[in-house]
Amino acid sequence: MKDGLGREIRYLRISVTDKCNLACAYCKPRPVKELRHSDLLTVEQLAFVAEVFVGLGVNKVRITGGEPLVRKGVAELVGQISALGCETVMTTNAVLFPQFAKKLAAAGLSRVNASLDTLDPRKYTEITGGGNLAEAVDGIRCAADCGFRLKINAVLQRGVNDDVLPLAEFAQSVGAELRFIELMPFASTTDYFEKRFLPSAEITEKYGMKFVREEGNVAYYACDAFRAGFISPLGRKFCSSCDRMRLTSTGLVLPCLHSALRFDVKPYLVDREALEKFLKECIASKPPSHNIERGELQQDDMGSIGG
Ligand code: SAM
Repeated sequence: MKDGLGREIRYLRISVTDKCNLACAYCKPRPVKELRHSDLLTVEQLAFVAEVFVGLGVNKVRITGGEPLVRKGVAELVGQISALGCETVMTTNAVLFPQFAKKLAAAGLSRVNASLDTLDPRKYTEITGGGNLAEAVDGIRCAADCGFRLKINAVLQRGVNDDVLPLAEFAQSVGAELRFIELMPFASTTDYFEKRFLPSAEITEKYGMKFVREEGNVAYYACDAFRAGFISPLGRKFCSSCDRMRLTSTGLVLPCLHSALRFDVKPYLVDREALEKFLKECIASKPPSHNIERGELQQDDMGSIGG
């Protein structure tokens, strides 16, 4: 289905939990206010909303969080969603991946986006609030060994990963596509943003990378040493081609990551027709664009909305 501006909505991101086994400085600032289990939609309810979205034209569903692998029943959810015939993918920090790899493969997960900002163990621990780099690297290697199509997503941060060559070499060694994401400011993380924002353009210039092609929200660049995708919500705004909707673990539908608009799906979960009508209204209300550059910042943090 098309939104009010004619953008075809094909992509749903479901955050299955706000909980995470890491606490990245730019994502979920402390103190962490965690939800109670009873606030969350059940796996069946999440799958039902996904099913109705698929009926409206969604053909790709991303399972994310928080950390999706800490949510009980996540493999069952993957199974129910992939049974709808749409591409089912996951974004994860990969730390717990080895415990779930076989179940996720059997459930029909087709692709894994692993988040990894640095290969420096000390910096990794610092950014993630105590994480262990070796566990994330093992998880990524496990995903590669199990044959998942793999992307490595690194959030560009000044003073953390200005030298991107180690990440490029690692991504190549595990057969992953490497993508850099520009750090986005949220109301709760503006200090971090001001200190660490590193525009994509600085990296492409530093390594003499040439533009190769554009695909959706990703611009691909290459130099002799490596190639990578760049997702630049600030440097290269892609709202005019945004095709996504978000569903949070508590049942809020967000038509835009950076807007205050959110619609509670819970009253509509009992009736397919009512749910379909409600989701159509959510899609129709998708805002034209974010307005970060005008200082309009999301008040909720990324971890609770779902990255
Ligand atoms: N826990 C999972 C993970 O680490 O991939 C999934 C959730 S996490 C919120 C999803 C992605 O959002 C991660 O790649 C993370 O780096 C990214 N992210 C979080 N906060 C961000 C911010 N302020 N700007 C840009 N990307 C951000």
